[in-house]
Amino acid sequence: MLYKKADIITKNYDCIIIGSGLAGMTAANKLAKNGRSVLLLEAHNKLGGFATWFKRAKGNHVFDISLHGFPYGMKKTCRKYWNKEIADRIVQIHGVRFSNPMYDLETDFTKEDYIDKLVNYFKVPEKCVHAFFNDMENMNFYDNSKMTNGELFEKYFPGRKDVLRFLLEPIVYANGSNLEDPAITYAIVFSNFMKGGVYTYQGGTDHMINAMKEELIKNGVDIKMHSKIDKIIVENKKVIGVELKGQKIFSRSVLSNANIKSTILNMVGEEKFSHDFIEATKKIKLNTSSCQVYMGIKEGETLPRMKDLIFYSDDDEFSTELILSPKVGSQTFSLYYPDLRPELNNRFAIVSSSNARYEDWENLSEQEYEDKKQFLIDRALTALDKVIPEAREKIDFIDAATPLTVQKYTHHLKGASFGTKFEGLEISQNLHKNIEGLFHAGSVGIIMSGWLGAANYGVIQSHEIENYLT
Ligand SMILES: Cc1cc2nc3c(=O)[nH]c(=O)nc-3n(C[C@H](O)[C@H](O)[C@H](O)COP(=O)(O)OP(=O)(O)OC[C@H]3O[C@@H](n4cnc5c(N)ncnc54)[C@H](O)[C@@H]3O)c2cc1C
Repeated sequence: MLYKKADIITKNYDCIIIGSGLAGMTAANKLAKNGRSVLLLEAHNKLGGFATWFKRAKGNHVFDISLHGFPYGMKKTCRKYWNKEIADRIVQIHGVRFSNPMYDLETDFTKEDYIDKLVNYFKVPEKCVHAFFNDMENMNFYDNSKMTNGELFEKYFPGRKDVLRFLLEPIVYANGSNLEDPAITYAIVFSNFMKGGVYTYQGGTDHMINAMKEELIKNGVDIKMHSKIDKIIVENKKVIGVELKGQKIFSRSVLSNANIKSTILNMVGEEKFSHDFIEATKKIKLNTSSCQVYMGIKEGETLPRMKDLIFYSDDDEFSTELILSPKVGSQTFSLYYPDLRPELNNRFAIVSSSNARYEDWENLSEQEYEDKKQFLIDRALTALDKVIPEAREKIDFIDAATPLTVQKYTHHLKGASFGTKFEGLEISQNLHKNIEGLFHAGSVGIIMSGWLGAANYGVIQSHEIENYLT
């Protein structure tokens, strides 16, 4: 059932889930299908977390925030843990284009095409390319290798900055990783994409989240939105429920889909954990944030069919630092054609995304913030002129989101788009060993982020909860 805003909840649950990101929702659905009583509490007025969208009546536009592309594995996950209708709407995008001072090329982002490009375009010896892919596929999460991304590329492609860019840049956009991050995180995400290319959801994020909401309700999940949880109640090292605006709701277990650091440090409280666990939690590094520019095309206007995802950069060289620069030399363009939302009567939209640092946006005066937003919009339009020259004239809506927007809507500390760095994963996985019945699922450790990573982590943690409840 769907609780109304003013409803008081008196029922006790097997599991309360805080947050309805893809991890929270998928865990809720799995537990409910197992026959568990589940309450899903969401701070926002809609489900989905980062998997979200917004509408603008002026111009009748709909914009997707994080529907740019995910690996084929999402289809399997949705079929297994959601339903066939949702899985059937997952379709391959029409390819990817890279446009930067080092190269301009198109790819379908599959292993076959990447091997072809590396050998025939970048002229890397075939033996070396196959050894690289072999290593990628055999890298095991449990090997605990200390190799970094930087070392990995230096090992296979020494001195090849163009090859490094070709291989790493798309993954930097997909999970915010950098050259110092463990190579295993790159290998898992890159190999997931290489299994079949890049996929999207036919119907848009609104369709998918609404279909998931229906499925949750059908399976007996109770949902309440407008419900920001400030406190997880712990007694004698055991979770007993949560506090919602002063009201206690009791449960045998709690799964937090909120940021791992705020879950431990703010919602539970430092005093409930051992000194070492708190120290390790404080050391978790957050991932970086994002900026986006949303561009709606006037009704009746069209755009030529191009690749759906364009990685554009003016930067001569690629570096993970440069990609975060407020100068926005690098950004991606996602092109949304009418076939994504046929009911909208031939509408086109473009979303530019760039990685960004929260620190570059905090503490600005109102005027400085507005000026910086305008700069972001101007950078997007200037770059767009180079990839789709006729597009600018056809835009009748444009707006931008910044790391502050991300923080406001998802409550992620510093607007972190992809959760935490690698060390966050261990803390997340060990939460229930410190507080009985308390679990976490959501973007952590680079690997468990993105639509697929988050949904799969929800499934993994639902098994842990099931073990605990049993
Ligand atoms: C700009 C951008 C583009 C992206 N593009 C892609 C992409 O193309 N492909 C891809 O795979 N991934 C993409 N991602 C990443 C992906 O969207 C996320 O990694 C994934 O959706 C995160 O899911 P999650 O389960 O971790 O939860 P989140 O989406 O982080 O959701 C957490 C939820 O918890 C709620 N919450 C938090 N605190 C509380 C509280 N105290 N009480 C109640 N509720 C609370 C929040 O409101 C939110 O709804 C993108 C992310 C960003 C920011």
